[in-house]
Amino acid sequence: MIPYGRQNISAEDIQAVVAVLRSDFLTQGPAIERFERKVADYCGARYAVAVSSATAALHIASIALGIRRGKRAWTSPMTFVASSNSILYSDGTVGFVDVELETGNMSIRSLRESLEHAEAQGTLPDLVIPVHYSGQSCDMKEISDLSVKYGFSILEDASHAIGGTYNGKPVGSCEFSDAAVFSFHPVKIVTTGEGGMILTNRNDLHEILIRLRSHGITRNPEILNNKSEGPWYYEQLELGYNYRITDLQAALGESQMNRLDEFITRRNTLAARYDFLLKDLPVYPVKVGSNRKSAYHLYPIRISKDYSGKSRREIFEELRGSGIGVQIHYIPVHLQPYYQSMGFKAGDYPVAERFYGSEISLPMFYDLSDEDQDKVVGILKGILER
Ligand SMILES: *Cc1c(COP(=O)(O)O)cnc(C)c1O
Repeated sequence: MIPYGRQNISAEDIQAVVAVLRSDFLTQGPAIERFERKVADYCGARYAVAVSSATAALHIASIALGIRRGKRAWTSPMTFVASSNSILYSDGTVGFVDVELETGNMSIRSLRESLEHAEAQGTLPDLVIPVHYSGQSCDMKEISDLSVKYGFSILEDASHAIGGTYNGKPVGSCEFSDAAVFSFHPVKIVTTGEGGMILTNRNDLHEILIRLRSHGITRNPEILNNKSEGPWYYEQLELGYNYRITDLQAALGESQMNRLDEFITRRNTLAARYDFLLKDLPVYPVKVGSNRKSAYHLYPIRISKDYSGKSRREIFEELRGSGIGVQIHYIPVHLQPYYQSMGFKAGDYPVAERFYGSEISLPMFYDLSDEDQDKVVGILKGILER
């Protein structure tokens, strides 16, 4: 089976992890800060905070941005459930904004309409979480302009998008947001096994994120409430979590970052090859805007219904049956039973539902060979023409 995604681990990666195993610190050692610095520098952001997963990152970043009971956050329904679950963890109220059919990204027109409507109702969001679907940045300038007008914070769910660019700047620079989150799950671009990171240019957010990832505890003498009672002294200032990443993971991430550009180049080459090989077939790859470079975590296509007379499900099952590990990204979050029990229903976000109904993610990963890619396209062609 050719999988839809897969990590690439080099001899250097293994050496980096083994070196940590032989060192004094398995967690909270020097590799974490080195990893954070490396990603922050790559992205051109001032601060980076590494945590145990992107889900944890979204959770504490949304707390740091003020989400609690009575606060509202909007995200995309075309995402993994973690984007919106992170709001529910701290009792915030979730809303969704429909996507564009061509990209799977949050539609600026839908966002504007939803904001106008919410303003009239007195239900404006406190936070918007755009999701950079498949690795392509959303229209961050437009979202940022709307945030100035309507007064919400912006947290980028950039789980798919490390290594991508927007207007020539790396995703994660936070030029148009308060913070951005990356995932280092093995199917993503760079891996630490499990892991995530928050990028920000805001010093106040950085300080609180550092505390929230470790129980809300600080030893910083400048912010202690009471006088230090001795070298052992620490204070818990708010309710935090154990969301720390280990040094083993950070060392792997640090080593993987050395090859990020190589990963992105190969993924873009594969995408261009897919675009070319698929150009005469009745399928529509995600459109990438001219002012951005996708990190191509995924290579999603939409299948034209009327061409072969086959349903998406039939095509999916035939691909799987032929050893092609295709996936579907995503079942719109508002269709999940848990979200339906909160009042969301089918028909609420019609473009996301239409996108879901026709989407298939083809294999896309650094080690996918040209031969395997030809095989994927050949089999897809055969299925569509049969
Ligand atoms: C993978 C993913 C997450 C969660 O990442 P973890 O590191 O597994 O917690 C969140 N949002 C999106 C869009 C993702 O694809």
